[in-house]
Amino acid sequence: MSKFLVKARILNPISDRKCCVYDDGAMVFSEKKGEIYYCGKFKELPKKYHSLTCIDYSDRVIVPALYDLHFHWVQDDVRLMPKASLLSWLSQYTWPHEAKFKNKKFSRMKAQKFFKRLAGVGTIGGAVFSSLHEHSLEHAIEFACGDYVVGNVLMTMNSPKELTQTQKNAKTLIDKFSKKYQSSYALTPRFAPTTHPEIMAYGAKVAKKNKCFIQSHLCETQNEIEYVLGLYRKIPGFEKVKSYVEVYEKCQILGKKTLMGHGIYLSKDERKILSKTKTKIIHCPTSNAPVKERGLGSGLFNFKSCERDGIDWALGSDIGGGPFLSMFDVMRSFVMQNEKAEISGATYTKALYRTTLKSAEILEISRTSGNFAAKKFANFLVLKAPKSIGGTGHSAEKILSAIIKKCAKKRSAYDSLVEHTYYRGNKL
Ligand SMILES: [Zn+2]
Repeated sequence: MSKFLVKARILNPISDRKCCVYDDGAMVFSEKKGEIYYCGKFKELPKKYHSLTCIDYSDRVIVPALYDLHFHWVQDDVRLMPKASLLSWLSQYTWPHEAKFKNKKFSRMKAQKFFKRLAGVGTIGGAVFSSLHEHSLEHAIEFACGDYVVGNVLMTMNSPKELTQTQKNAKTLIDKFSKKYQSSYALTPRFAPTTHPEIMAYGAKVAKKNKCFIQSHLCETQNEIEYVLGLYRKIPGFEKVKSYVEVYEKCQILGKKTLMGHGIYLSKDERKILSKTKTKIIHCPTSNAPVKERGLGSGLFNFKSCERDGIDWALGSDIGGGPFLSMFDVMRSFVMQNEKAEISGATYTKALYRTTLKSAEILEISRTSGNFAAKKFANFLVLKAPKSIGGTGHSAEKILSAIIKKCAKKRSAYDSLVEHTYYRGNKL
């Protein structure tokens, strides 16, 4: 018998403002097929399911498993290194560390450990940056458990010697991976300064032909923007570019399958281009947070202006710019930073939606994933419920806030917030 009935308090995210709560909830799923057959109130459960083996999580809360749409798996060891600014942290810690992934054995061992931990904190999909080494992408694909899109960073210029590849090598890898992995591959210019515009333009053509994703970084700090414009305005054909977004636009890497990390400092004209091209922004609040909160101090993403201009966005951890793996820590940071800045609308309900259903939409898998509905995959997390939300009748916002705030003082505790992670009906 591979069908199970789970009893629990179930939270089902629907939109920025709506998350259904089933206090006395029931979910029926198949371990073999991985699919959900029923999700809703226990008292409305069809009779035919009453005799199934019941897994009783009545004192627990169940939410959909989470997506992290921007992180660097090869930066796990530099998450907690001192961060004075983006460019100095990159050159001092990150790049020397990424160079170590040249060693295949090291890379494989790291991938095996990292992705196991990632599933343990409740993440079962997302968009990942590998190092520039061919095998580091292969290792991520081998060990990542869930629905991931992976790219090897392209670094053909302005990079340290040990992390510079030839243009020929970059093209060979683009050709190989885009054909081999299609929509599980993301063309990944690290960011405009490190990747020749010819490589971006070439890659964009190949990626679009093979239905691959594209990911990079955009407008994370003001220094970075000045650096990009200074560099590109010296490159023939780019002399007149007005903005960072225009650089990417000219290289043709914008589009509906393009995920740009950060986007903190965007002008109105830049937002217009992003909206027109349907480019997505991945907001990484813990990475952008002040240095005293172990972020890079880059600033606060303006989610309201992006939404107003019709730009789709979701949340990411940006490990190792972000210090912790758990997307619950990322949700907390999103809510608290906006609260502190007295910006309304940054709720836990919204944060959950932007880490589940919206992310699945961006990954183009929302037909089968992202929240609970019959025929979707049973991807869910089992969480302990704090005493303050005992009984019934609490709103989703109150339940989420109680669960997430509980670990706010000791952020490493987010690593053990998830009791069980289920992916396609199987406990990981
Ligand atoms: Zn990043």
